[in-house]
Amino acid sequence: MTPEKNPKPSETKLKINKKSLYLRVGFSLKKEIFFVAIGSIIGGLTMHLPRIFFDFTTGSQYFVTLLVIAKVLGSNLPEVGFAFHMLAATIIGIVTGILLHKIFKFNISKLKNGLFYGVFAGVIVFAVFAIPVSQLVLGPNMAEILSELDPQMTLVEASELVKGNFVSSLVDSFIMHIIWGITFGVLASILTRKLGANFRCRRCEIEFSKISTYEKHVENVHENPSKSIKRILILGGGYAGVGVLKQLQETFENNVNVSIGLISKDNFFLHTPLLPEMATGMLASRHIATPIRTFCKRARYFHAKVDSIDLNNKKVTITRGLDQNKRDLDFDYLVIALGGKTNFFGNENIQKHALTIKTLGDAIDIRNRVISMLESADQEEDLELMSKLMTFVVVGGGFSGVETVGEINDFVRESVEKFYRNIDVEKIRIILVSAGEKILPEIGELGEYAMRSLEKNGVEIIKKTKLIDVDSDHVELDNGMKIPCATLIWAGGVTVDPVISKLETKHTPNGRLEVDNFLRLKEHTNIFALGDCASIIDKRTGKPYPPTAQHAVREAKIVSENIISSIKGETNAQKSFVYDSKGSMAKIGKRNGVALLMGSKIKGLLAWFVWRQYYLSTLPSNEKKIRVALDWFVDLFFPRDITSLSGIK
Ligand SMILES: Cc1cc2nc3c(=O)[nH]c(=O)nc-3n(C[C@H](O)[C@H](O)[C@H](O)COP(=O)(O)OP(=O)(O)OC[C@H]3O[C@@H](n4cnc5c(N)ncnc54)[C@H](O)[C@@H]3O)c2cc1C
Repeated sequence: MTPEKNPKPSETKLKINKKSLYLRVGFSLKKEIFFVAIGSIIGGLTMHLPRIFFDFTTGSQYFVTLLVIAKVLGSNLPEVGFAFHMLAATIIGIVTGILLHKIFKFNISKLKNGLFYGVFAGVIVFAVFAIPVSQLVLGPNMAEILSELDPQMTLVEASELVKGNFVSSLVDSFIMHIIWGITFGVLASILTRKLGANFRCRRCEIEFSKISTYEKHVENVHENPSKSIKRILILGGGYAGVGVLKQLQETFENNVNVSIGLISKDNFFLHTPLLPEMATGMLASRHIATPIRTFCKRARYFHAKVDSIDLNNKKVTITRGLDQNKRDLDFDYLVIALGGKTNFFGNENIQKHALTIKTLGDAIDIRNRVISMLESADQEEDLELMSKLMTFVVVGGGFSGVETVGEINDFVRESVEKFYRNIDVEKIRIILVSAGEKILPEIGELGEYAMRSLEKNGVEIIKKTKLIDVDSDHVELDNGMKIPCATLIWAGGVTVDPVISKLETKHTPNGRLEVDNFLRLKEHTNIFALGDCASIIDKRTGKPYPPTAQHAVREAKIVSENIISSIKGETNAQKSFVYDSKGSMAKIGKRNGVALLMGSKIKGLLAWFVWRQYYLSTLPSNEKKIRVALDWFVDLFFPRDITSLSGIK
């Protein structure tokens, strides 16, 4: 053998230490619970099999115990007793483990911890079974079963036998449970170490599910940096960016020749369809936002602003928040998914006075403003001023404008009725201004229904009209109307960030990036753009696909597949983006909605229910689904929360 292949022990040790310099091992409680369950079943077999064999040969009482458990459960099969004993022991083992973990941060990553945990759980199961269960539940049936099994034994003799064997069966039971505990504790610990751990590189802040992949990473990236590593940078942590990230991570989980980085100025992924409900106190802000780091397993996350993109030199400059520190990141593949921003069409007054509904911060501002208006109007004696404070104008007949106006209408009217009794209901004006002839034109005649429903609930709708000016106490429309109002919410259009509009490539008139069918910039085959910042033409109609989350998610699938095939050298396998929308839905106030789903038109309560189910199911984690579902449940019984998150300065 060559010396290289067979290093001296000291060299091996040095190498392992050096690698472990970067290593941080993480554990998942969910996986540990799974391993504990497997360990418990194997431990149960280990402890029972010799016992059962022993019972058959010596006629001891364990077999009888199983029959007694079965009898208590209404069966006469010992297997039922066996299954129940195992199930109960496993549940007790898992609950003990969770309590140890939650209270003492105890985990079974070390073998000795696994051993301690197993023995501890064994003692608890013994204590539960040997003392209360055996004495109170099983005891009275034991003698009966013994005498049934042996017709020559009377009930009195059987009772004597049970009493006489009390100490020895206690010792037996104790040993059995300790054997179970040791077996399952050690097994669960080994499984956790082998399969449950994540091996995290401290320097790169990325993790691997296998130690061997982690070691390859250290070798390729830190020890002998390989020139063949492909660097993928994803800009943006919205539907498009996170969609691409998830698929790339899955494919390249064990491929250390690919490095992935994601940059986003918000450190959370925002579920925008629920933003209007958050803005009016139905949902808590944290419940519709999920930290991006929870998605970044195999990818490095940078919480920073993208300042500029150098397409030719393949470099992105980012600035982090705290100290404005700048840094350059190189890439081989770039995914531009920076979304859009509110378009004020160059009107500085609107930009200065209007609130917007695009980000989590926007929704918090709307909520604070509406509550502040309610609080002020409640103290106002001057009815004209009260009316101005109670007038809310929303601009935009698209989904975000319509959903926002519906939510504000419900929130203001319900809150006035419940909490602000000095406000004259007649003074409330909620107005929707739309430049189009219809609202929600995407859903055809359902838009008419939405309009009628909103009007029935008290919303004034002004169509075919544009807002042209605003100051602190009124808005002005292009039909000459001046409306006194203190709150304007602008949902009138979307444009792109200057970082996108400055790029030296082809743009549409509204600044979006023009891409080819494969979602690549036309002159850069390794640079992809998708989501709200890209304009993707549907070849069949010649029109761009609409900027919606639904489309961004599907585009993400195509972009990741195209990057994967390109990295694998399958250059002819690039896929075109073709997608038929599955439909559109909008919530238009309390328990009311409209939905156009695969050609079917639904409206009213059913559409509202479908809307909720769909957007609940698309939340990215079970935790957020439960939190949002609880918020909705609480809303059925309690009034909206009117806590303002900003005081008087
Ligand atoms: C109120 C509202 C309701 C909506 N309802 C629906 C709906 O019901 N159904 C539907 O399909 N669509 C809906 N949409 C549209 C949907 O939200 C967008 O189409 C979707 O978010 C686009 O995804 P994206 O990833 O392209 O952009 P975004 O989700 O906007 O993500 C952009 C990401 O880029 C980051 N970013 C931006 N600029 C920078 C920078 N300079 N540096 C670093 N990071 C940056 C942001 O932080 C963010 O993480 C709604 C939108 C709104 C505002």
